[in-house]
Amino acid sequence: MSQHCPHCQQSISSPLLSRYEDFFACPHCHCALAHHEADIMLYALAFIITITTPLVVFGEVNSLIAMALSMLAYHFLRPKFFESRFRLRIVKFFPIENI
Ligand SMILES: [Zn+2]
Repeated sequence: MSQHCPHCQQSISSPLLSRYEDFFACPHCHCALAHHEADIMLYALAFIITITTPLVVFGEVNSLIAMALSMLAYHFLRPKFFESRFRLRIVKFFPIENI
């Protein structure tokens, strides 16, 4: 699944979240981009709830253990299945002045 640069609209393959610190540069327009924080949070939350709930309700697994298992699963599955679905955003730099 390819993603599009929100600045130049060309399709790019973004690096893994773990491979960059604050932003990465679009290979076409060199615009500073990052994955959308809201998407990162929402996918993690949705995945953890989806896995934890049936484990606790039907599997009668301790809720803390179920949550730890789903977080671990998400950690390993995210780079493969979720990161390509995150929206990309343009990183804006605010000049530090008048401080
Ligand atoms: Zn671009």
